[in-house]
Amino acid sequence: MDKIEINSLSLDELKEMMVELGEKSYRAEQIFTYIHRNRNTDIDELHQLPKNLRDRLKDIIRVRKIDIYKKYVSKIDNTSKYLFLLEDMNIIESVVMEYKHGFSICISTQVGCKMGCSFCASTKEGLIRNLTPAEMLNQIYLAEKDLNIKISNIVLMGSGEPLDNYENTLKFIEIINHPKGHNISLRNITLSTCGIVPRIYDLAEENLPITLSISLHSPFDEDRKKIMPIARRYSIDELIEACRYYGNKTKRRITFEYTLIENVNDRDIDILELGRILKGMKCHINLIPLNPIREFNEDRPSGKNIERVQRELKKFDISITIRREMGGDISASCGQLRRSVTQENNY
Ligand code: SAH
Repeated sequence: MDKIEINSLSLDELKEMMVELGEKSYRAEQIFTYIHRNRNTDIDELHQLPKNLRDRLKDIIRVRKIDIYKKYVSKIDNTSKYLFLLEDMNIIESVVMEYKHGFSICISTQVGCKMGCSFCASTKEGLIRNLTPAEMLNQIYLAEKDLNIKISNIVLMGSGEPLDNYENTLKFIEIINHPKGHNISLRNITLSTCGIVPRIYDLAEENLPITLSISLHSPFDEDRKKIMPIARRYSIDELIEACRYYGNKTKRRITFEYTLIENVNDRDIDILELGRILKGMKCHINLIPLNPIREFNEDRPSGKNIERVQRELKKFDISITIRREMGGDISASCGQLRRSVTQENNY
């Protein structure tokens, strides 16, 4: 029988496990705090537990680990990028950024991705596998230990599509938010999706005050289909309706990410249509200048044009920012680093 991955269990699941073992449920809290607040991985060293319980646990549980494989620190802005090695030798990446309000981490939710967006490096070899909750948590715990910091904001915007790994992503959110663990506020968590419409409705039913961020990238179905295969499945109308539902249900402002690609989605008609479909919605637009990758033969607009897009969209009374580039000297964006290393090593 497969051993249970103990650092992927919620506190409730740990309690159930203790009850099944004929133990008191407060043992579950001791284990949970030991792993998620104190960031320990060796249950055998948890001397608060009686020796016979530790011995019994050894037979049925395992602790999922990841290791730092490489670390890059930007000389420009102190951004740190990690490549983590998983137990099965896969590699994932995370980025830690320092802002005025504290440290923010961008974590991966899958190894690779099957969504196939044409401009994105993470998806070029398809999906390899989902990450477990513990593998998501460990990206945060290891970076915090290594940098000796406490992270206050999490964005699920690294490699992978979080809504394509729905159960594990929700379990991760439950654990990282738990007062007996890391205790990160749900309001400080952002989940970014290419727009898997049925899962957006599912997420709305969870009624969590996390920020939902939608990768829109074009207001026209036909143009969106050319760069994002998911657009063949769900129309922009369906996507926007799901976003409105999510916003009404959770009372949270939706963010739209819009990767600016020269002459593809930065034209006057794009701006007009974008303004039209988002008008009156409680939302925010995040403009991301394209990070050119080798496999996608397009460029980002000039700085002047990016500012023009922002200016024009503001006329629709939409809140809008341009994403500041961080860690430009360490290819800190969008699966580029992992890909450069896996290609170099011929993984
Ligand atoms: N799968 C999720 C989260 C990962 S991608 C999603 O699609 O939202 C995080 C953001 O980076 C998305 O908005 C994605 O479209 C954008 N992105 C990916 N590659 C990029 C690139 N080369 N340049 C600019 N933005 C990119």
